[in-house]
Amino acid sequence: MFTAFHRRLLAVLVPFLAFAAFPTLTYATHSWGTYHWARTTNSFTLKLGDNVSSAWDAYLATASTRWSGSSVLDTTIISPGGTADSPKKCRPTSGRVEVCSANYGGAWLGLAQIWVSGSHIYQATSKMNDFYFNKAKYNTPAWRNLVMCQEVGHTLGLDHQDENFSNVPLGTCMDYSNDPNPNQYPNAHDYEQLDLIYAHTNDGTTTIAQIAAKAPPAMSEIDFSGPGQWGRLIRSTNRGRTELYELDFGGGHKIFTFVTWAEGDERGRR
Ligand SMILES: [Zn+2]
Ligand SMILES: [Zn+2]
Repeated sequence: MFTAFHRRLLAVLVPFLAFAAFPTLTYATHSWGTYHWARTTNSFTLKLGDNVSSAWDAYLATASTRWSGSSVLDTTIISPGGTADSPKKCRPTSGRVEVCSANYGGAWLGLAQIWVSGSHIYQATSKMNDFYFNKAKYNTPAWRNLVMCQEVGHTLGLDHQDENFSNVPLGTCMDYSNDPNPNQYPNAHDYEQLDLIYAHTNDGTTTIAQIAAKAPPAMSEIDFSGPGQWGRLIRSTNRGRTELYELDFGGGHKIFTFVTWAEGDERGRR
């Protein structure tokens, strides 16, 4: 029997159900949430700290130029970056992305970490693992472009467009592929996605400049190089080859870690 009580219950529940459906809708696009840098204008300029070796400088420059093709943002390289003396630690700097390269040991190929407060990203790191890029298989311009472009792309608020290594490449660095050649740069859909993420033009505040630390100090005092410090695994695809972790410090303070494991060194297969 459908009573007045049920009607009241429905009236209360329906908005929640609609809200619950929302993550599914956003997942159909390729942002991974509503996370974005707070800023007061479009277009805005995001700083990329250069903590990479000379072998990577051209790839960092290319990624910066390509992502600046977006109509809502530009990126600019700050050299040296804030952690250039210790790229292996790759310490974050508030208000920017620190891009690092080092031999991080055998495990992952590339890593992007994003610190958020509420829905706003306020610092990020992108790491390229020379343990693999010193090996013939990955030491190619195509692999370097793909991973650099993707790990920087994550710090803008983007997710992968596709996580299947075996299907037809989409022609974007936000796609995984066994053949990196077609997937070295952003494509039109990545720019569209950025337009959506940054469609609101004024957050009334900014996180693209150095800000007073609002986050628990522990959030910057962690060794981020291994899964032991990444928190909860919230997504795993391709038998663990690509993963997303969430470390929740409470109060809306989180660190997200996007991991691309190297072929043969996937966490799920070790
Ligand atoms: Zn906003
Ligand atoms: Zn990724």
